[in-house]
Order: sequence, then structure tokens, then C-alpha cells
Amino acid sequence: MGKFNCACGNLMRTSGLIPNPIEWKIISDVDFDCFNGLVDAEDVYSVGRSAFRCEGCGRLWIYWDGFDRPPRCYVPED
Ligand SMILES: [Zn+2]
Repeated sequence: MGKFNCACGNLMRTSGLIPNPIEWKIISDVDFDCFNGLVDAEDVYSVGRSAFRCEGCGRLWIYWDGFDRPPRCYVPED
């Protein structure tokens, strides 16, 4: 964790600035459905998967299985 290079060469920072301007959270409909009414934002945040969007090429790097496993890369179509 910390930083890695996108396939386009752009430096991707997974830590540092909080909030991280290139980080997004993905939460499944199933996980979200477990919440009801007023909830603690941290609880919702913690079940979300972290995704990092390259500002250079638009690739998405998603940590589906936590930061201990490598992220999956998704390339936008032209
Ligand atoms: Zn890139």
C-alpha cells in the first residue's frame, strides 16, 4: 500500500491525502441493504471496496479483496 504506477505510467497514491482525491468507494447493493435508517458513515465506508481512478487515462484500480491483494484494473473503452 502507498503508491503504485498505473499502466499509463501515472503515479497512483493510495495513501497520503485524506480525503484521497483519486479514491472512490464501491458498495454492493447486498451490503448496502444491511443498513437501515440513520447509520454511522464510518460503518458504511468500512464495507465499501476502494477504487482508484487514474487522472491520466481513466483506468480504475479496484481492491476487491482488500489492500493485501493486488487490485484489478479496468480500462475505459474509447
Ligand atoms: Zn493511467
